[in-house]
Amino acid sequence: MERKCLECGQAFNGRSDKKFCCDLCRNAYHNRIYRQQKSLISQVNSRLAANRKILENLYTAGVRKVPKNRLEEEKFDFGHYTSRSRNKLGKVTYRCYEYTYYSDLHRNVTIVKD
Ligand SMILES: [Zn+2]
Repeated sequence: MERKCLECGQAFNGRSDKKFCCDLCRNAYHNRIYRQQKSLISQVNSRLAANRKILENLYTAGVRKVPKNRLEEEKFDFGHYTSRSRNKLGKVTYRCYEYTYYSDLHRNVTIVKD
């Protein structure tokens, strides 16, 4: 049965479960997937580290409540956090490592450290 190599696209003959024309293509394919996964992980890690640094700088400067705009100006990425939960009052809180933060109706963000 003629198949097409997943890496180079060339037709080759082989068992029906064979996906690559040769070992070189198989290795190249898997290395690329591995690199893509590593790159995704490192992008997410960088964003989390950048968020943590922003919270840490504010907290260290004595800031416990900050306008959301200010965090946005600092390029805080609200789409990335280490976990999300609800406190006793039912308010959604976000964590970035040792920092917990949540916003109120006035667009102020409260920062708490463990
Ligand atoms: Zn190939």
